[in-house]
Amino acid sequence: MKYIIGNWKANPKSLAEAKDIVSAVKKISKNALSNNIQPVICPPYLYVSSLIDNKNTKLQFGAQDIWINNDTAETGMVTASLCKNVGLKYVIVGHSECRRRGDDNETVSIKLSHAALNGLKVILCVGELKRDHNGLYFNQVAKQLRESLSNFPENKISNLIIAYEPVWAIGEDAESAATPKDFYEMAMLIRRTLAEQFTKEKAFSVPLIYGGSVDKKNAQSFIDVGSDGLLIGRSSLKAKDFISIIDKTIISKNKIK
Ligand code: PEP
Repeated sequence: MKYIIGNWKANPKSLAEAKDIVSAVKKISKNALSNNIQPVICPPYLYVSSLIDNKNTKLQFGAQDIWINNDTAETGMVTASLCKNVGLKYVIVGHSECRRRGDDNETVSIKLSHAALNGLKVILCVGELKRDHNGLYFNQVAKQLRESLSNFPENKISNLIIAYEPVWAIGEDAESAATPKDFYEMAMLIRRTLAEQFTKEKAFSVPLIYGGSVDKKNAQSFIDVGSDGLLIGRSSLKAKDFISIIDKTIISKNKIK
């Protein structure tokens, strides 16, 4: 399965626009799924119940974050069980924007366990802030991964997806996306690090996806080097681009076959 996941952040500005994107993506979701591609949209919480159609589960939805506890006395927060109960299937944890607001690896690890134990699929984001000539960024990502997964319940490993999102490649200020080679090298490091904690077989079962300035032009190159999917910000807000990325993923998958 390849995962094409849209992270909408605090967009689009109106529910009507959100509904338009969802209805366009829904139309191609059946075909995507029959090609083993799962489209997922992570909208702002406020839109979730207006967008989810629990009868049509071909297009799935996720949360962009959850609160660290599962308690009911948490003013202003959204918990893993609330997400699950409303029909969300995924949650992004450890996104660089959440880390920038204060989520450290320990917080991320608690959120990951809550989410997985509540039956959500977790998309754990890891990635270096910047690169250096000595390759120290590999150590930084390995550390982030080890600490973030330190409490992860091994029997929930099928709920884990890892997104390599180098922070320098994310958002409008990014110089460019990473290259497919950058992704490939980091994917090897991630698999090796996972194999230290879990068995080799389990380490290889975890989907590894790429995020950071993915667009309709570069999407296929990441799938071509073996990425199990993409985490997409800006291009997921343009229905045509998001659909084109799904189409490119189908082409790449069929080529690899
Ligand atoms: C993101 O924020 O996760 C992201 C990948 O954004 P963009 O695609 O806009 O770089």
